[in-house]
Amino acid sequence: MLSSTFLDEDGVYDPAHFNDRLLLGLKGTMSEAELHVLRARLQGGIRNKARRGELVITPPIGLAYAATGTLGLDPDTQVQAALRLVFATFRRTGSATAIVKTFRRQGLLFPRRVHAGPRQDEVVWTALGHTQALRVLHNPRYTGAFVYGRTRTRKTLDGRDTLVRVPPAAWDTVIRGAHAGYLTWEEYEENQRRLHASAQAFGANRRQSPPREGPALLQGLVLCGRCGERMTVRYHVRRGRQWPEYLCQRAGVERGTPPCQRVPGAGIDQAVGEVLVAAVSPVALEVALTVQQELQARRDEADRLRDQQVDRAQYEADLARRRYMQGDPANRFVADSLEAEWNSRLRALSEAQQVRERQREQDRQVLSAEQRAAILALATDVPRLWRDPQTPDRERKRMVRLLLEDVTVRRDPGITLHLRFKGGATHTLSLPLPGNAWQQRTTAPAVVQAIDQLLAHHTVPEIATQLNARGLRSGEGQAFTAVIVARILTRYHLLPRYDRLRQAGLLTREEMATLLGISQSQVKVWRQQGLLRGHAYTARPDWLYEHPGAHPPRKAQGVKFSQRRLPEFTPEQAKEVQCEA
Ligand SMILES: [Zn+2]
Repeated sequence: MLSSTFLDEDGVYDPAHFNDRLLLGLKGTMSEAELHVLRARLQGGIRNKARRGELVITPPIGLAYAATGTLGLDPDTQVQAALRLVFATFRRTGSATAIVKTFRRQGLLFPRRVHAGPRQDEVVWTALGHTQALRVLHNPRYTGAFVYGRTRTRKTLDGRDTLVRVPPAAWDTVIRGAHAGYLTWEEYEENQRRLHASAQAFGANRRQSPPREGPALLQGLVLCGRCGERMTVRYHVRRGRQWPEYLCQRAGVERGTPPCQRVPGAGIDQAVGEVLVAAVSPVALEVALTVQQELQARRDEADRLRDQQVDRAQYEADLARRRYMQGDPANRFVADSLEAEWNSRLRALSEAQQVRERQREQDRQVLSAEQRAAILALATDVPRLWRDPQTPDRERKRMVRLLLEDVTVRRDPGITLHLRFKGGATHTLSLPLPGNAWQQRTTAPAVVQAIDQLLAHHTVPEIATQLNARGLRSGEGQAFTAVIVARILTRYHLLPRYDRLRQAGLLTREEMATLLGISQSQVKVWRQQGLLRGHAYTARPDWLYEHPGAHPPRKAQGVKFSQRRLPEFTPEQAKEVQCEA
């Protein structure tokens, strides 16, 4: 059967015959080996050629081979201008998203070379996408360097080819300054660093979130200085107020590990607010005006680009018209399609003209005196609004978002804040790690001293009562409670009452029971009956006992407590016991 036979220069094989199959198999193996050798030889040739910088690799858009065979900038100045705008915008903003937004806002298109199909090698103009912007920024060839080996094909398990990116250090060939370019190699490297940094700051899960309710000023703007994730806010309610805490927990939530870092927010918010108010007046004014000047320059540049866009549309419309005119009117199909082409070109032209007019109108508005006055007003408005207690948290948050790009926070062991302003300026400040909210309010030294003295004779709740009776107030201006006194005790490392009594030689109930050879419950009864003298060290109360001395009370059943021996009272001790009651 002819359909199932194979054919090569040596003859016809029928796979149904074993001998033929064997021969076929051998041949197959051999040809595969041959292919491999051939490919290796070819690759070696390519690589050698590449190493001499002579390999012809399709250049990215914006670079083109001249008729003389040398590579250089695309002679089309509109294409050049589009690429220059990409690099200039990145220089200014450091963000690929900003480039895309700039193009969209200005109504500009970006050139793209068609690689296949009937319009192959033609340059078409389409909206600039984020991926495309990134590809341009990442491509070292725009520096005028000859680069080979940025990607490598690798076979996947199912036999398909995939393209693998090779790290710059492993690129096969890099010849800098091989031809004209759009930026320097140094600038390219700097761009890579910035892209890497913003890839950390603007990853998919780290997008800035819009302001929500709650007093945390920097909610949605805080980045973790340890892992680079965006930090979330958690509120703790204390004394009817919300206290923010910035928390890096995304990884923690996903992997079930404890949060990466948590930082109390009150101190941070206050410090950032101070920086903004202090920085905004003279600095922001200058920045705002510089930005405006630069915007003006960009506008002129963009306007030229749009002119070119209109010119090109005009040229294409004219071309379509000529084609239509020259076409054979007898051939209806050709005439129809030429007419349709002409119409679509005319539509494109009027669209380009409209975009240009619309944008010019907007540009004029941006330039208005009002706008300028608004920027000038910023310098006085921000501090005034900021300090005004009537200003809601929401407004302050909005102001922060107007001025700040993000804030990186690191706890190490103080707090380091790295502020990134919208204009690209940065500011770093360090804060001491605050204690809890109550610790931020200082306790008057007189109060600490009074507590220290009272501890010799009183339990913590009693001390609170005593302090209130003396008309003293806590650091937060409130009446003392046992909790507040206890916190001050810990905070100022005052020796607790228990330790003071133990140092004075007082015994625990257990020790007393052992000493007297009685049960612990009997110790309690004896204290209640006045045979033993106890001093309370908690509000429960828990007691510590004075040593009964050389003549302790005895166990004597049937004898009235009043007739048993009582330890002798000194006037000083008597006073103390009264205080205990
Ligand atoms: Zn983190």
